[in-house]
Amino acid sequence: MPAVKAPLALPPTPAGNVADLPPITREQKEAAFAALRQEINQFAQPFINDISTRAVFGEGDPDAPLMFIGEGPGAEEDRTGRPFVGRSGQLLDKMIAAIGYQRPQVFIGNIVKLRAADWTPDGGRLQDRPPTPEEVARWIPFLHRQIEIIRPRVIVTLGAPAIKYLTGTTEGVMKIRGTWLSYRGIPVMPTYHPSFVLRAYTEENRRKVWNDLKAAVAKARA
Ligand code: URA
Repeated sequence: MPAVKAPLALPPTPAGNVADLPPITREQKEAAFAALRQEINQFAQPFINDISTRAVFGEGDPDAPLMFIGEGPGAEEDRTGRPFVGRSGQLLDKMIAAIGYQRPQVFIGNIVKLRAADWTPDGGRLQDRPPTPEEVARWIPFLHRQIEIIRPRVIVTLGAPAIKYLTGTTEGVMKIRGTWLSYRGIPVMPTYHPSFVLRAYTEENRRKVWNDLKAAVAKARA
């Protein structure tokens, strides 16, 4: 009988509400970010190859009220070392501008910090794929630490893997987008990934995302 592989358990989410952590100043957040960036770059070294050439830490304000979490870097993100700079990133920028912010005023990060992709069978090109549970398990502790530093008022997750791995929900994003979840006391708004919106560019999908972002910004400012 073929061995059945047990599902991979993710490292546990740290206990307790983020708001109960000892207070931290903006300067301390900046220093913690710089140290964590270095740690992530070092941790990534053994996994660097011809597919993923650099870790993408994320970017924005370490003291941001709003944090956006996507899945992981793609080709352009790997090339530049910046999150969401491809086509979906351009749409994300527009979405962020529509709610009255600019990229440096929020934080944009990902579940995994290295590009997840495979060579096509003919070896001709790379095809992005969702991160494996092993890859998520490897990287998610760094995301927990980023959230503990930033302590955003609201988190917006983009797409299915982000909400699943951040909160452990088993509901699909189509069902739970637009409803509030929680990450250690921080309100989490799941919405569609911009690349999905680009693929299914309907008025309805754009309206749903707009409503989700309006709710997120209203809560962040409340
Ligand atoms: N898609 C993501 O989920 N993250 C990025 O950084 C870019 C594209």
